[in-house]
Amino acid sequence: MSLIKQLDPSTILQIAAGEVIERPASALRELLDNALDAGAENIDIVLEKGGKSFISVADDGKGMDEADIKLSPKLHTTSKINTINDLNNLHTFGFRGEALASLAEVSTLTIASRQAVSEHGYEYSLAFGQESPIKPKGMNKGTSVVIENLFQNLPARLKFLGADTGEYRACLGEFLKKALAYPQIGFKLSHNNETSYNLAPASELFCRILDIFPNTPLQAFHYQQDDILVYGFCSPPSWYRPTRSHQYFFVNNRAIEWAPLRGQIAAAYGNLLPPGKFPACFIYVQLQPSFADFNVHPQKKEIRFQNERLISDCVRRAIRDGINLTAVSPTESSFSTSQASPVQQEPSVKREPKPFLYLPQKVYPSSGQKKQEAPSFQKSYRIEKQANLFVKTSSTEHTLSLAQKLLYARQAGQIFHTYLIFDEGLQVTLVDFHALHERIRYEKLLVQKNIGIEQRNLLIPQSFVFPKVDADLLEKNAEAFNFLGFSLTRIGETEFSTDTLPVFLDSSQAEVILLDLFHLMEDSPSFNDSSLWDRACKSIACKGSVKSGDKLSAVEVEALLQQWHELGCPQSCPHGRPIAVSWEKTFFDKAFKRLGF
Ligand code: ADP
Ligand code: MG
Repeated sequence: MSLIKQLDPSTILQIAAGEVIERPASALRELLDNALDAGAENIDIVLEKGGKSFISVADDGKGMDEADIKLSPKLHTTSKINTINDLNNLHTFGFRGEALASLAEVSTLTIASRQAVSEHGYEYSLAFGQESPIKPKGMNKGTSVVIENLFQNLPARLKFLGADTGEYRACLGEFLKKALAYPQIGFKLSHNNETSYNLAPASELFCRILDIFPNTPLQAFHYQQDDILVYGFCSPPSWYRPTRSHQYFFVNNRAIEWAPLRGQIAAAYGNLLPPGKFPACFIYVQLQPSFADFNVHPQKKEIRFQNERLISDCVRRAIRDGINLTAVSPTESSFSTSQASPVQQEPSVKREPKPFLYLPQKVYPSSGQKKQEAPSFQKSYRIEKQANLFVKTSSTEHTLSLAQKLLYARQAGQIFHTYLIFDEGLQVTLVDFHALHERIRYEKLLVQKNIGIEQRNLLIPQSFVFPKVDADLLEKNAEAFNFLGFSLTRIGETEFSTDTLPVFLDSSQAEVILLDLFHLMEDSPSFNDSSLWDRACKSIACKGSVKSGDKLSAVEVEALLQQWHELGCPQSCPHGRPIAVSWEKTFFDKAFKRLGF
């Protein structure tokens, strides 16, 4: 008797389904793909139990008519391609027509959809392959797809699903990829009846990135070669994470796992980063669909490029430019990428990346507020600056502070990794930005004397080791350190851990500062004493400041000047070193013997 037999269609479908739908997160990804392909502007996602019991994706896209709703969960039904050649010019996520068919076999699938022209929508449901009759349904334009009890009919698959939290995390991963790829689309996500994200449509890509990863310092980059455009944001080398949590790579808005990426990021940063640390990199590649094959992975997670070498080079150069971005005058090009040629191929995401770097403000406004928050002071000055550059208007009654004058002036670069140069027309001013930044932090810390230094929470507690004698003293004075922003707990004979740091302080500086503060405290264990408080603030302000060697973007420089102005323009750093030194034009004219002397 023959051992080989034809499998029945339902078994074949269930096996195929396993390739496309592995877990709730892959179901979610397919539904999001469909919503985006349908031109949604807002997408609402509801999950229960990590997506294991319930996934709903509702969009306001173009919807389907009655006949298409019934066709959509049939195998190999797609509205997106007609022949294999169409894969060379793919502009949609879906094309295989198997997601809904697979889901219909392994869950209770309910599709409700309405086109704008139709008076009402329809609802169609299939429970593990068994259809119920389609029926009319009152609803808004768009489509909602609900998946209940995924894999309930496949105990073997069910067994491989993780705990709710693990499945939820995977769903969140898919959600974030889409939210980062489509900043102009509104996304909502709730899990077990709690809202996790409510992302309003963002006008700028960086607003969306900051909505999701607040307080990440971001520098824009933008690089084009031939028909390949690479743009995005990366962090300066002084900022990094212990994992790749802040690294994303998109090709034509699709999040892709691309093996060479790690190497290219590492090569771009070179030895500027400590080993085992990872910068933030949000990289977006736009290219002709024919340059890449998206059909190499059942879940379309991987990609094959026609010319992988070229893409690698472009990505590395783009990031390099982001890292190297030097201060340019805001009236000049926003980008320092010398190689970047004008963008010919407008990417589908409408955007105009701008250099943008964070300053130690506490929180970033969400994208909705972002526009109002844009420093209007700088804007108005920028406009005036063009109108009456260097012209002293007699109507100016109040005198400008030095910081304001420098906001008028042209940023003429940065030297010795320390001094910013400002060309004021008849005068040149050099600003030691390290000193300036110290001053700003110091002033902000100083005023927290009665409430204690504001803390920021660490995701992963940081630990420190002290000699035994010091450890005892430290433990006794843990309260005082709490006031300074460290919540220290002794976790061993010589070891302490903290899950907070002073708000301005980078983790990499925490140990040095803690030691410094400890030595201060040895002299007198109470920080209520004014002079001690002052010294503590100096320590935190100075060690945590922008180090000389960091490069500042034009926007960052403007923000520094703005804050300086707001503080009343103190002229020296907390240690008394001057912040700015100026020379009249005549000084140079004399030196070059252009003027009589
Ligand atoms: P694919 O996306 O590969 O075409 P799917 O099984 O995911 O296959 O979907 C089948 C078809 O159902 C799609 O081609 C599309 O025409 C339609 N469809 C699915 N989801 C939606 C949606 N959210 N809005 C409008 N049409 C949809
Ligand atoms: Mg699809």
